[in-house]
Amino acid sequence: MTEPFEKARFATKAVHAGQPPDPTTGAIMTPVYLTSTYVQEAPDVHKGFDYARTNHPTRLALERNLAALEDGSWGLCFGSGSAAAHAVMTMLSSGDHVVSCNDLYGGTYRLFTKVMERFGLTFSFVSAYDLGAVEKAITPKTKLLWVETPSNPMLLISDIKELAKLAKAKGILLAVDNTFATPYLQQPLAMGADLVVHSTTKYMGGHSDVVGGAIVGRDKGLFDKLKFIQNAVGAVPGPLDCFLVLRGTKTLALRMEKHCANALKVAKHLLEHPEIALVHYPGLPIHKHYGLAKAQMRLAGGIISFELKGGLERAKRMAGLTKVFSLAESLGGVESLIGHPATMTHASIPREERLKAGLTDGLLRLSVGIEDAEDLVADLDQAIQKSL
Ligand SMILES: *Cc1c(COP(=O)(O)O)cnc(C)c1O
Repeated sequence: MTEPFEKARFATKAVHAGQPPDPTTGAIMTPVYLTSTYVQEAPDVHKGFDYARTNHPTRLALERNLAALEDGSWGLCFGSGSAAAHAVMTMLSSGDHVVSCNDLYGGTYRLFTKVMERFGLTFSFVSAYDLGAVEKAITPKTKLLWVETPSNPMLLISDIKELAKLAKAKGILLAVDNTFATPYLQQPLAMGADLVVHSTTKYMGGHSDVVGGAIVGRDKGLFDKLKFIQNAVGAVPGPLDCFLVLRGTKTLALRMEKHCANALKVAKHLLEHPEIALVHYPGLPIHKHYGLAKAQMRLAGGIISFELKGGLERAKRMAGLTKVFSLAESLGGVESLIGHPATMTHASIPREERLKAGLTDGLLRLSVGIEDAEDLVADLDQAIQKSL
């Protein structure tokens, strides 16, 4: 990347990287180029853009921006986080084996087991924070290690540096889904990961108004493979979607600071609440990976999961009683959301698998927004009270 902001600090890169003023008009914002093709001066003589599935200027601006934020050398955007995960999987071939964390986004689990297994890939799901278990699961056929940290929805932390060392020693790739942390909190490539995958639908977009995905890396060979797949498969995002994510990343640093500060206040409050049985938040000293989270992440993130006393029925009642927290799938937007993973985001994972990962039927998940923390705490309190 030959970018003037390559060496800048995070918030400066977020605002500027990949987005020089429009050369024809000086427009400070990257235009939404609504075009499918480009006029060529002579056959195959053009400005680097020949067809919009292959290359697109609004998408390229976003790809460069994301590469800068993850401290990578390239980025590739997809129509969704799921399409990005699919692109990583299609680098592999029938017969290859993947070791994945067992506490992962339900849709990714569904992609792996219901789609990719039909094409001859095999998967082992293990607790990725348990390095011994990961190592034991690696076979001569293993080509890739897939990890989400913090995990979803248990907020467990896996040691990216140690996993990267293990992957290198075994000659396999490490892909980290960095959707929950964002590059503001954690940069897996700098810790040795080969690929970072994002659902830009979440914090990167940040406003619950777009669906998108991305892969970022440093290795030129991986770029060539994935760029080929991006073009050949064609799961690319539209120009307006790219613009919306670019708008989102400009305020990522500010938003993450507020998400994390609010989440810490809410988590502390829940921890002391007599009606709450368990709180999972990596920013609490009682969390079993608190030390690792502190070492690996700038702040502990905006997602909390917890269990109410009273189990499933009460949890469902509470999820319907909040007023500031909206009952909805997804996370990472400016507004606070509450969800019930067992029936919503993680319903596609079989119950036995869910329970093995600690995801009980009564677990609730919060995506803490950027509203006033006092209002969020008061809203949870009234819903807990009414759910009795
Ligand atoms: C939402 C999400 C995905 C899937 O992304 P989509 O944009 O919904 O396809 C993958 N991983 C994580 C951690 C997610 O939260």
